[in-house]
Amino acid sequence: MFNLDKLLRDNIRELVPYSSARDEFQGEAKVFIDANENSLGSPLTKWYNRYPDPHQHAVKAAISRIKGIPPQHIFLGNGSDECIDLLYRAFCVPGKDNVIINPPTYGMYEVSAHINDIEVRRAVLLDDFQLDLVHLENLVDEHTKLIWICSPNNPTANSLNRQDIEIVLNNFPGLVVLDEAYINFSRHKSFIQELSDYPNLVVLQTMSKAWGLAGLRLGMAFASEAIIDIYNKVKAPYNISQATQELALKALEDVGQVNEMIRQLVTMREQLSRDLAALPAVQRVYPSDANFLLVKVGNARAAYQHLLDAGIVVRDRSKVELCEGCLRITVGTERENAELLKSIKEWKA
Ligand code: PMP
Repeated sequence: MFNLDKLLRDNIRELVPYSSARDEFQGEAKVFIDANENSLGSPLTKWYNRYPDPHQHAVKAAISRIKGIPPQHIFLGNGSDECIDLLYRAFCVPGKDNVIINPPTYGMYEVSAHINDIEVRRAVLLDDFQLDLVHLENLVDEHTKLIWICSPNNPTANSLNRQDIEIVLNNFPGLVVLDEAYINFSRHKSFIQELSDYPNLVVLQTMSKAWGLAGLRLGMAFASEAIIDIYNKVKAPYNISQATQELALKALEDVGQVNEMIRQLVTMREQLSRDLAALPAVQRVYPSDANFLLVKVGNARAAYQHLLDAGIVVRDRSKVELCEGCLRITVGTERENAELLKSIKEWKA
C-alpha cells in the first residue's frame, strides 16, 4: 500500500537535478579549474576557496559508525529545519495536499507548511500528551502526504507511546516523519534501527541538542535509500558548508564527551524538576524525556515577565493548546539553574 513514487510530486519525479562540478568529477587531479572558485585563496585559509563535498562523505561515514546506519540511509541538512522543508517541497503539491501535526508540537512543521502553501490538519494530543489515534485517522484523506510526530515532544517533553507510533507507521500510506531531536535525553529507544521494517519512515535527529552544536546547523534525516535519493535530488548543491563539515567531523570523534554531557544534563534535569516542584509558585512540573521542562505556574505571563526583569529568558507557552499556564525551561548550567530557582522563589504568584 505504500508507493513512494506515487507520493512524489510529478515535477520532482520528472526533475533533472543540478549536477555540480564536484558531482561530475570526484577523484584526485593536479589542477582544478572546473568550478569558478577563486584559485588564489581567501582571507581565511586556502581550503575555504573551494566548494565543499556536496554529499558530505566523511561526515556521513562518521555518523554511520556512531549510529550503525549505512551512509546511503543518511541525509544531512542545514539544521533539521532544512530536512523538514525539503519534505514539503518534494512530496506536497501547494494548494492541494495536506499534512497532519499533533499539537502542541514543534512550530516549524506548521510554518514550513504555510510557506509551501500546504494545508495543516491538527490532531491535538490527548490530555496525557499522547497521540489521539482516532482523531488522527479521521483526518487522513487521499491528499494527506505526511504525518509529523515529535518524540520526545517539544514543548510537552514526554515521549510518545511506541505502540501508537507503530500503529501509525503500519496504517498510514504516506510518510511518517518522526522527529527525534531530543532522543538522546530519553529513556526510550530510537526508531532508526527500524528503517528496514518501515519504508514510509523518516527519522529526524540533529546536532543542535545533545551534541551541543546548534550554531553549526547540522540536521540528519534517516530513511530508506529511495527517500534519501529524493532528498539529494531536491537539495541545494552545497547545502552543508566546508566549515560545518570540518567542525562536525571533529566533534564526531568525541562521542564520549557527548555521552558524559547527556548523563550530566539528565541528572541536572531531574534535580531541577524536584527543586521547581518544591516551590509554592509552581503548580506542576511535567515528566521530561528531553533537556527542558514544561512547568505550570498559573499566571505564566506574569512569571515570564518577573524572570525577564531578573535577566532570565524562558519560553512562555501559555498560549499553546494544553499548555495553559506553562513555561518551557531549558536545563541550564548549575549557576543558571540556581538563578532561575532563586528568582521563581521570589515571585508572588
Ligand atoms: N525539531 C525539534 C523538535 C526542535 O525542538 C528543534 C529546535 N528547537 C528542531 C527540530 C530544529 O533543530 P535544528 O536546529 O536541527 O534545525
